[in-house]
Amino acid sequence: MSVSGLPPYDPGNIFARILRGEIPCKKVLESEHALAFHDINPLSPTHILVIPKGEWVSAADFHAGASAEAIAGFWRAVGEVGRPLEGSGYRILSNMGVDAGQEVPHFHVHLFGGRPLGVMLKRG
Ligand code: AMP
Repeated sequence: MSVSGLPPYDPGNIFARILRGEIPCKKVLESEHALAFHDINPLSPTHILVIPKGEWVSAADFHAGASAEAIAGFWRAVGEVGRPLEGSGYRILSNMGVDAGQEVPHFHVHLFGGRPLGVMLKRG
């Protein structure tokens, strides 16, 4: 069990396979701690996923268990990916667990931009 109550890390998940180079991705940035690539099913003109290189199921696991260096390196990569959109703005989001609808059990942050994104969440 991961700290978030989700199943343990599955090294067969699709993002783990991308990290191992078994599946291609449209890479945006790679650093020591992170990989960023375009979402295969974009919800906005810019929709980029940023993932840490370590084996973390969710935001909860990552922030509880990763080293300070890995956490800083990851968020620095998120900032770099967003830099071209700083004029117009962007949104970052991470789904954690069932209620959030997390599909891929490797921690990731979505970065959306390229159009006005509307309200953050529907009320209710
Ligand atoms: P989440 O619901 O937060 O787990 O989001 C998972 C995201 O991964 C979705 O937006 C998918 O479109 C995206 N995705 C799934 N498979 C791939 C892939 N092979 N390459 C890029 N994005 C993917």
